[in-house]
Amino acid sequence: NSHGLCTNEVGTSALNQEEVKKSIGKLKDPGGILQRKRKQVVQKPLDKFRMKYLWVTNLCSQTWCEQQMVYEFEFPGVEKQEKTEAMNAGASIHLARELEVHDVVSVSTQTREDSWAIKFLNVLAMIPVLQSGGHVREFPVFRELDGIFVVGVIDELGYSSKGELELRELKTRTTPSLPRSSQKSSHTFQVSLYKMLFDGMVNGKLQPDVFIQHLQLRLDQVLGVQVKEHIERAGLTVSTFGDLLELTCLNLAFSELPVIDCIKLEYCYQADGTLLGCETVTFDEKNVMEHLKFCLSYWKGQREVRGVDIEEAWKCSHCSFSNVCEWRTKKSEDALVKCHTKKAK
Ligand code: SF4
Repeated sequence: NSHGLCTNEVGTSALNQEEVKKSIGKLKDPGGILQRKRKQVVQKPLDKFRMKYLWVTNLCSQTWCEQQMVYEFEFPGVEKQEKTEAMNAGASIHLARELEVHDVVSVSTQTREDSWAIKFLNVLAMIPVLQSGGHVREFPVFRELDGIFVVGVIDELGYSSKGELELRELKTRTTPSLPRSSQKSSHTFQVSLYKMLFDGMVNGKLQPDVFIQHLQLRLDQVLGVQVKEHIERAGLTVSTFGDLLELTCLNLAFSELPVIDCIKLEYCYQADGTLLGCETVTFDEKNVMEHLKFCLSYWKGQREVRGVDIEEAWKCSHCSFSNVCEWRTKKSEDALVKCHTKKAK
């Protein structure tokens, strides 16, 4: 079931050490950026960070610590340095697995419509593989959830021995141990969102107009030369973004693909690829929806940013922003006041 999967050519810039140091220096300055930021006009975070949609991974970082995620957006580069090495090692394992089922073809894109066309082409190439009982990797998923457009990529889809459609998510670990429960719940949220996105796509819930409404994409945009060449090689005859979008939505709605029946999380040790454990996730739609709505209420500007609760304060000791975190300072002050009040009584 080998097929080609296209990828955009994205340039990754090396992290500038000096800029990171400068950012940290500024962060330590209590009279600097943080104070000026407080004075800025309150804006919906989605607009403030110029985001037209959210990645599932944004929502997972938010589940870990919302305040940390916001600092990462405000001061890009500070947290990245430590994460990059681990992420690169994890990405190599993912790529090796991806190459087992299909080739990766590089296609250069010129417009945002081209980039989305690549996602659609990948979906169109993977539908027949799933229809014929095969398995695929890196399946793009996207649609509107509670008023916000959400995008993700499913690691692997295939059929279990019982014939159920199974989602498998590979997590690489830097230590040879399974994650703590708080990390596991973030992983559970991630794969549950993938299921909600996928199920909606094959149930006809993906409507073409959301791409105009949320992403402001142009239906009449003629696709780039390389993208068109790829479309022709796939045996399709479309020339505009709108045509390809319609074709994708129709193909998904009439694919008769089942919804995801079973979700598995697979943990492996990054250093040597040893399998550390495989867990079956129970999909709890009510809980996932409740948590999603809570996360999205921040992005919609309906509530203030939150940091971790006192029971999860251990996360702060691993956080690059701990010495400047306003949430943490506020929580420590509150705890001190409580302590003094108790003593006075
Ligand atoms: Fe979140 Fe704690 Fe870091 Fe603040 S110090 S951003 S509360 S993890």
